Amino acid sequence: MVRTYVNLTRIRTNVEAIRARVGVKVIGVVKADAYGIGAVAVADAISDLVSGFYVFHSDEALDARLAEVSGKSTLCTVPGENDDVAFYLEHNIRPAVWTVERAARLARAKPVLSVDTGMQRFACATDQLDAVIQAGQITEAFTHAAKPEQATQLKDLLGGRGLRLHAAASALIDVPGCQLDAVRPGLMMFDGAVRVTTPLIDARPTKGPLGYGGLTNPTGHHGVILVGYSHGLRNGPVLINGRRQQILEVGMQSAYVSLDPKDRIGNEVCLLGNELTPQTIGKAWNSTPHEALHRLASLGEKTYAT
Ligand SMILES: *Cc1c(COP(=O)(O)O)cnc(C)c1O
Repeated sequence: MVRTYVNLTRIRTNVEAIRARVGVKVIGVVKADAYGIGAVAVADAISDLVSGFYVFHSDEALDARLAEVSGKSTLCTVPGENDDVAFYLEHNIRPAVWTVERAARLARAKPVLSVDTGMQRFACATDQLDAVIQAGQITEAFTHAAKPEQATQLKDLLGGRGLRLHAAASALIDVPGCQLDAVRPGLMMFDGAVRVTTPLIDARPTKGPLGYGGLTNPTGHHGVILVGYSHGLRNGPVLINGRRQQILEVGMQSAYVSLDPKDRIGNEVCLLGNELTPQTIGKAWNSTPHEALHRLASLGEKTYAT
């Protein structure tokens, strides 16, 4: 009953705009099935605009058939069962490395050095950098940066050695000095490109305390949607017939929403899209835009438009 509408042209336009702004290459982050939007479709839509892709786990590169779809390489942080040079060459995967042993073993697969600038996971401590660079014949290095200082630190540590360096995810893409030789946007590529909707399956006047919690409903009318906490839904705003309404209570497989008296069964309830950005929903959930986008986009049956 949930539908996810993806505007692939908008995703392309976003990537083009990022490219124009930063003036360096873009690595498209399509991990977790492109934030629930569909990695195969997204990768296909942007493959000519990016220098390559990033996913978390190497299995994701295979699932999305990234090498076949794009002909471009994919940087992967975590190895699957297959962690050998032949496997990586076959699938055009460049494994992230942070130990001397693995860098040496995978050198022919052009591994990419992952540098720890504070995240303290999946990355190389600064006193090991030279050894890993040498062992893996490293030509490229990155860091997963939450703050501008981490991007600058990567440059301070490894700049001037002819290595391709990148640090910036969406939050740092427009911060001066963070672009380095490439940027790695995920979230920002999907700005305004995703709408998630579900139909109203009940609509009625509210008579007294409502639901499990005995809620009061300020609008005096309420409805029900067939999405609940078992699907990952949480309290927050929705849009119904252009008006902002509230999820009043989330049950296991359904939820109450406030309604305008004019709203009818079958009307579309928008869970994400238009003014309901991942940022807005993430805030309502006391979480991140990433989680809101991933969870809601994953929920729906996908329709892709170009
Ligand atoms: C998820 C991720 C990104 C992209 O982050 P956004 O905030 O979605 O742009 C970039 N780099 C790495 C290593 C990541 O894991």
